[in-house]
Amino acid sequence: MDIRVDKDACLGCGLCVKDCPMDVYELQEGISVPVKPKNCMGCLSCHEICPSQALEHRGIYPARRHYIDIRVCEMLNRVI
Ligand code: SF4
Ligand code: SF4
Repeated sequence: MDIRVDKDACLGCGLCVKDCPMDVYELQEGISVPVKPKNCMGCLSCHEICPSQALEHRGIYPARRHYIDIRVCEMLNRVI
């Protein structure tokens, strides 16, 4: 997974470090660094929690996830 952190935007809050279920990030000198990018499962939870939108996952976009979520909700509503 190609994960980029905008060093100018990162606040060093550590929320992505705590939130990531796969321990992808580590704080180094006040900046989040994706030290284990291969662990990433693409859940995009870190995007949602980052207050400064400093994270980028090449090839995966939050809008796509929201679109999929909406489609799943629509499907479930039809079944239930
Ligand atoms: S997308 Fe999910 S697994 Fe990947 S770095 Fe973000 S929180 Fe961790
Ligand atoms: S959540 Fe965002 S601002 Fe906070 S450490 Fe992670 S990348 Fe930086």
